[in-house]
Amino acid sequence: MSAPTPSMDVLVSLCKRRGFVFQSSEIYGGTGSCWDFGPLGIELKNNIKRVWWRDFVQQRMDMVGLDASILMHPAVWKASGHVDQFTDPMVDCRECKLRFRADQVDEIPWLHFCPATKGNKFTIPAGEACTHCGATRTLCPDCGKGELTAPRQFNLMFKTFMGPVEEDASLTYLRPETAQGIFVNFDNVLQSMRPKLPFGIAQIGKAFRNEITPGNFIFRVRELEQMEIEFFVNPHEQLDGRPADEAWHDRWIADAQAWYVRYGVDPAKLKLKEHGKDELSHYSKRTVDVMYHFPIGWSELMGIANRTDYDLKQHSKASGKSLTYFDEERKEHITPFVIEPSFGVDRAFLAFMLDAYREEEVRGDKRVVLRFHRELAPIKIAVLPLLKKRPEIVATAHALRGRLARQWRSVYDDTAAIGRLYRRQDEVGTPYCVTVDVKTVGDHDKGEAGDGKVTIRERDSMEQIRVPVADLDAVFGRLMGETAWSEVAVAYPRAEG
Ligand code: ATP
Repeated sequence: MSAPTPSMDVLVSLCKRRGFVFQSSEIYGGTGSCWDFGPLGIELKNNIKRVWWRDFVQQRMDMVGLDASILMHPAVWKASGHVDQFTDPMVDCRECKLRFRADQVDEIPWLHFCPATKGNKFTIPAGEACTHCGATRTLCPDCGKGELTAPRQFNLMFKTFMGPVEEDASLTYLRPETAQGIFVNFDNVLQSMRPKLPFGIAQIGKAFRNEITPGNFIFRVRELEQMEIEFFVNPHEQLDGRPADEAWHDRWIADAQAWYVRYGVDPAKLKLKEHGKDELSHYSKRTVDVMYHFPIGWSELMGIANRTDYDLKQHSKASGKSLTYFDEERKEHITPFVIEPSFGVDRAFLAFMLDAYREEEVRGDKRVVLRFHRELAPIKIAVLPLLKKRPEIVATAHALRGRLARQWRSVYDDTAAIGRLYRRQDEVGTPYCVTVDVKTVGDHDKGEAGDGKVTIRERDSMEQIRVPVADLDAVFGRLMGETAWSEVAVAYPRAEG
């Protein structure tokens, strides 16, 4: 059975309290649509990007990477269709001036002054009618009074000026997707790396969208980060008895979902949504979204589009440069089709956190634990002294942390009693704690020698084993690799909890 998803409020509060995510410019009242990743958030985010890059670029023979600049020639956005078509329909409230996406205005609860109850004020769930008067929403959902304007198209690209003069000739845009940096470098990669079709180019980077209604924490932000792949295939080839682009599209849909599951997402919280013909972007032959069961309901986690040869052809036409591939077998120049798995870093971050979150009862106490996959956990090992008044214990713990930190993100903490320290590490998802105690270092006054062993505690089972310090590197080498805790733990005596 799936673990219950925590509410967004619970997650936002944990994120702030434990240094994962802060509101941007908070001391000035904050900006609702921008968020800052704190000391633990940046570790988690970097880990997500690192495993993604390793799995999809470094471990594959058919992928290379790229890091294109955010500011590009403005002609790129004209050719790609973004200047004319990267728009959302918006409506404005004539009273309170709030702005909404026309296609999402019925997805939020609405304020209603009900005539059947002498104008009493009610907040009515999204899309539902008033139970007193039967009315459905027609006015502004926020103030409940103003009429909404007719929908107008609003371009989501942020404009800026390149150089010292603010004039039309120097107008450019912050990129709204990383993909175009790949298309305009297609020939550079082809000439420098000589890849054979099918092959992909991957990129991780920031993108900017002036969303009309940002919100739901980091789900919809104006400054986002994407991990995108443009996978080029020969549409004349057949694969699995179908055109290669269609077969590769299905492969990428399966691979993308498997990637989330591999790092801890519950498969029952994922499903696919096929875009209808009327929803498809201007470049797309078929688009499938991977949906995740967020606290706001099923929503897009990532998208996988078949962009056809649209972008390469558009850029070729606009720039006058050939962006084709020579098909040796057929002795002809072709424009490859492109399958684009587009992962959002911020939404992946949110999904991994939500899926890791558990509230458990341990000996009558509530324990909050983030059951992160070990590769995603912001801190891998916490070294804790049982008694901070004993200098030998403290010195040994510091030395151990330093040694472990050469390979794994490790911290030292002595600011509370051990039970409390364990709970704190559970709450940020640290998979292992190492405790140094009197038995480790011995007792000089009593003439007792130390046993040179420490206690390792595992986060999920809370089991503890006693391990010689000399074994630690080897033990953690196995634990951080593919070996299960139970397999490692069996070789060592259990320690008391
Ligand atoms: P939506 O329908 O939610 O606006 P989209 O279909 O416009 O998203 P794409 O253009 O397919 O999104 O972008 C690919 C991915 O980038 C999304 O699946 C998502 O993970 C991420 N993404 C897009 N816009 C945002 C945003 N404003 N905030 C956070 N992530 C985003």
